[in-house]
Amino acid sequence: MTRVLVVEDDPQLVRALVINMQARRYGVDAAPDGATALRLAAARQPDVVVLDLGLPDMDGVDVIKALRGWARVPILVLSARRASDEKVAALDAGADDYITKPFSMDELLARLRAAVRRTQAVPIEPEMTRVTTDEFTIDLAAKKVHRAGRDVRLTPTEWHLLEILVTNPGRLITQKQLLQEVWGASQSNKTNYLRVYMAQLRRKLEADPSHPRYLITEPGMGYRFEG
Ligand code: CA
Repeated sequence: MTRVLVVEDDPQLVRALVINMQARRYGVDAAPDGATALRLAAARQPDVVVLDLGLPDMDGVDVIKALRGWARVPILVLSARRASDEKVAALDAGADDYITKPFSMDELLARLRAAVRRTQAVPIEPEMTRVTTDEFTIDLAAKKVHRAGRDVRLTPTEWHLLEILVTNPGRLITQKQLLQEVWGASQSNKTNYLRVYMAQLRRKLEADPSHPRYLITEPGMGYRFEG
């Protein structure tokens, strides 16, 4: 089954896209914002991404740049903006194609098929879903971490946190975002959870856990992965 990741904050458009894609036997995941999109892209390994440029939490062009740090998945941009420099910026950042809103569903689906066809001709290299540092390697597709030639065992919670951070390289992810994403909306004040789990991750991944080089704390704000 061809998996599509739809990144769009307009719920009506998402509903229309999901219904039309599912009717054509695509598997669809939907993300309402950029941070969710990056996490789902890593977790679900979509075959194609349909991305709105105007998102509530980050610019769509930055989502493309972040994705291109580790994924070669084709990206079809939905642009409400007529300005051609937006489209140029999206294409320069690594988008494969764009379509201007409002669009016909038939045209979108035709472009989707074309994007998927183009990639099926090119075998995907495993390096594309791997994050490599001097200390450890993370295989996002296999959900495995290697360090010094060995598998590092992570709990599902540790993996979830790590995945969010490494798929947003260099970006500050707030405590609230991490807590909501990993533990759910009702737990968004439990910053002690985060401290505990981040300490565990550092023990497993950092050469000097008390002076982390990769899993950085921004005091009072959140965490950041430096690749
Ligand atoms: Ca939008």
